This record gives sequence, C-alpha cells and structure tokens, in this order.
Amino acid sequence: MENEDFLNQRIKIGFSKTPGERIRALQTGNSRRLALMGWIEVSDDKVYEEMLHQKYAGARALNEWFEINDEVVLEELKNAGPSGYIALQKNIGEFLGRDRDGIPEFVPPWEWGDADASEFCPQCGCACGLQYNENYGVECCLKCGIIESNYE
Ligand SMILES: [Zn+2]
Repeated sequence: MENEDFLNQRIKIGFSKTPGERIRALQTGNSRRLALMGWIEVSDDKVYEEMLHQKYAGARALNEWFEINDEVVLEELKNAGPSGYIALQKNIGEFLGRDRDGIPEFVPPWEWGDADASEFCPQCGCACGLQYNENYGVECCLKCGIIESNYE
C-alpha cells in the first residue's frame, strides 16, 4: 500500500515482490511524494489484492488508487497478523524538538498516524504482536526475537 500525500490521501493497493522498487518506478512522473505505508506477505498475492480491491470498491478513485485513510490501512495490516508489516520510519525516536508546552517530541514509529508500538515490532514492523518474555524480562518479536531498543 502506498500513500500519495497527507492532506488528500490516496492509497494504492497493489502487489509487488519488491515494493521499494515499485514505488521508485511510480514516483517517476508523479509530482506528489509517494511512500510505502506497509505490506502484507501472502502466498497468493494476486488473490489477496483482488480481495482488498473488492472490499474497498466503494472507495475506489482510479485503477488501484483508493480514498481510504491511514486507520483503514493500519487495521488491514493488523488483521494480517504475522504477515502484516508497517513501514517504520528510519529515524524512530529521534528528538524533533519541543512543542509549545515544552514537551519533547520524537519521531513516531509510523509516518501516518499513531501506530501503537505494542502491536507492531519497533524493529521489523511486524504485526505479530509482541510477547513478553519472562526469562529476559523484555518484549520479544516472533520474527526478530528480543527487542533491543525501548521507546515510547
Ligand atoms: Zn520484529
């Protein structure tokens, strides 16, 4: 799934073996910045894509572009469980500055909204749900194991 811009969100639901390259290809000839919102790993991606296209047929803008919001995308990624991933920001937790009340602000995990960190792995973005490991006293991800960094 790809995002066209923030104000006038149009989201593309498509399948690709290499989403990063696909986006770079789409970006060529598009004046708006495109970015990957997340992805779902499925064995039959064409069928899955068709299912999502059917589901959001009422919100279809053009071809594979849909006028759905970030919450819908997040919900789909969560529903996919261990197969769902959000595209994490590269500089998560980086200090951004202070707001008007002097509260420090940091780069959130997800660019488009408040993705609950407890539902996605802060390292790989997997929606497998973090498991608390009694032995280590830390959160563990099904995919990458122990979570090194702890952030809010
Ligand atoms: Zn992980």
